[in-house]
Amino acid sequence: MSNSKYEQMWKDLGLDIAAHDGLLDVLGGFYKDIYLSQKNRPKGTDYLDFVLSEIHGLRIQELMEAKAQGRKVFGSFCLYVPEELALAVDGISVGLCAGVDVGTKEAEKVLPRNTCALIKSFFGFKLSALCPYIEACDLVIGETTCDGKKKAYEIFNDYHPTFVIELPQIKTPEAKKLWRSEIGRLAAKIEEVSGKEITGESLSKAVRTVNAKRKVLQRLSALRKANPPPISGRDALLINQVQFYDDPVRFTEKINTLCDELEERIEKDIGAVPADAPRILVSGCPMAAPNWKVYFVIEKSGAVVVGEESCVGERGTRNLVAEDGQTREEILDRIAERYLNIDCACFTPNDERLDHIVEMSRKYKVDGVIHYALQFCAPYTIEAYKVEKTLERENIPFLRLETDYSMEDASQLETRVQAFLEILEQKRCG
Ligand code: SF4
Ligand code: SF4
Repeated sequence: MSNSKYEQMWKDLGLDIAAHDGLLDVLGGFYKDIYLSQKNRPKGTDYLDFVLSEIHGLRIQELMEAKAQGRKVFGSFCLYVPEELALAVDGISVGLCAGVDVGTKEAEKVLPRNTCALIKSFFGFKLSALCPYIEACDLVIGETTCDGKKKAYEIFNDYHPTFVIELPQIKTPEAKKLWRSEIGRLAAKIEEVSGKEITGESLSKAVRTVNAKRKVLQRLSALRKANPPPISGRDALLINQVQFYDDPVRFTEKINTLCDELEERIEKDIGAVPADAPRILVSGCPMAAPNWKVYFVIEKSGAVVVGEESCVGERGTRNLVAEDGQTREEILDRIAERYLNIDCACFTPNDERLDHIVEMSRKYKVDGVIHYALQFCAPYTIEAYKVEKTLERENIPFLRLETDYSMEDASQLETRVQAFLEILEQKRCG
């Protein structure tokens, strides 16, 4: 990215230019090593390379142009925040990335050290003035999922306008009512910030746009059932990450074209890896961009990730909003229903997630499941016990990893992943 071309825009956003240049250099290096080093990538991944090279450039310029025309930008850190509401006021929804440990030192001045890396990352981005997306947001929308996030949002609000919705953590009829009223409260807030009304018509259009995006991601997932899979796990992860930044209509179009190419590759038996490479399902915490470490470790070791049971993956794309609502209130009902079906570990009980992991393991014919949890993330590290027991019963090999965003444990992770792959190999031969 040409730093000079966008420097004024970044200055206007209040970014720390020197630190931001450093961040872009580091990210550029990672991207080269992890992505551009891959051989035989589908041609359609050019789109990913372009988006990544312009992630703080052209896309931010688009947001600033939209803002100049009076459109509003809404940011969020969680799957439970319905992007349909932002689109229904002609706004822009961005999933704010929190997948790198820049700014951790700053974050630890405010938050305890034993806070999960994702929370420290979004705080660090803000306190270090490094994220143009946060700075472009007219409103950040938080949610009461885990304790770490909900308490952090209280403080985050001192630095950036933040609106928090209450997510119940049990799926009773009473909780569903509460959630439906919270969706109504958020809709009203978005109307207030944008100065525009959410109508049945605008909401219906937004639902169709977001459903189309989820459908193309479902199409991509289905293509990864092939042996060999036509695309690497890390490219599929990146697609799932890019969906949170790019314009949803453009994204859907580009990924549909990529899927056409992947179908041709499958017909011609062209894979991203050799046929019969060990197939892995990754399950657990979301991997926000640019968190690519674990995928890189797995695929560098000769396996391929064929599915992600994650918020940046099928947990986020599995369900669509029913399109049969007509009025604003009917469509808000459908939205509330769809979002409460998400099986995040912050819910109790959360047996649907266990069922989904088994179902995905079968569907993608995986050799093993790698459970990925961020250190200090109580919901996922604790739920890993139930995942392990479930997979034991199903005779599906399981490896549990806990890590953060630093690269310090990369070689230790590699050793553990390689040992796991040897077990999978023995199981195949036995
Ligand atoms: S893991 Fe749960 S809290 Fe975290 S982004 Fe996903 S849905 Fe939200
Ligand atoms: S990774 Fe875990 S602790 Fe961190 S924000 Fe998500 S649910 Fe909370």
